[in-house]
Amino acid sequence: MDLGKLIQERIRDVADYPKPGVVFKDITPLLADHVAFAGVVDAVVNHYGRGTIDKIVGIEARGFILAAPVAYHFGAGFVPVRKKGKLPSRTHEETYDLEYGTETIEIHLDAFQPGDRVLIVDDVLATGGTAAAAAGLVRRGGGEVVGLSVLLELSFLQGRDKLGNLDVHSLVTV
Ligand code: IMP
Repeated sequence: MDLGKLIQERIRDVADYPKPGVVFKDITPLLADHVAFAGVVDAVVNHYGRGTIDKIVGIEARGFILAAPVAYHFGAGFVPVRKKGKLPSRTHEETYDLEYGTETIEIHLDAFQPGDRVLIVDDVLATGGTAAAAAGLVRRGGGEVVGLSVLLELSFLQGRDKLGNLDVHSLVTV
């Protein structure tokens, strides 16, 4: 079966979550289907090619689930980007705007070797604020951002506009 079609079938729309008026894209049915989950991981690895990436950055929390197997299959290291206060050692932090309020995410100061080639992996690209902040953290940490890979891009929210010339790879765009 066509992977894009399978992904779309396995992502569930949940109305009014996390608040009224929002339609949340729930990837848990996709993760529970081993064919779809493995297909997603293989598609990301094949897109870039083994040996081209030094570190995979996963964004808390669903990004971790995708980024860890991608890192394993690339033969790359895994680096977490977490919400403020969750990482134990010294960090860089970036704060960005949400629809209501702000969010702060962090990365360890020593996450990268200078010049490490870094791929950022997350589940959904929506307004782009999270991905832009994560790319900023990688650059401040001395890594070179090779790209952003997401399972699903919500193109009507124009997240790419916040990402400059960053290479964005989306398995499915709606
Ligand atoms: P953005 O910063 O607006 O691009 O939102 C992207 C971040 O919020 C990602 O880390 C996603 O995990 C999360 N996110 C936003 N909308 C959804 C959704 O509909 N389903 C799952 N995650 C979402």
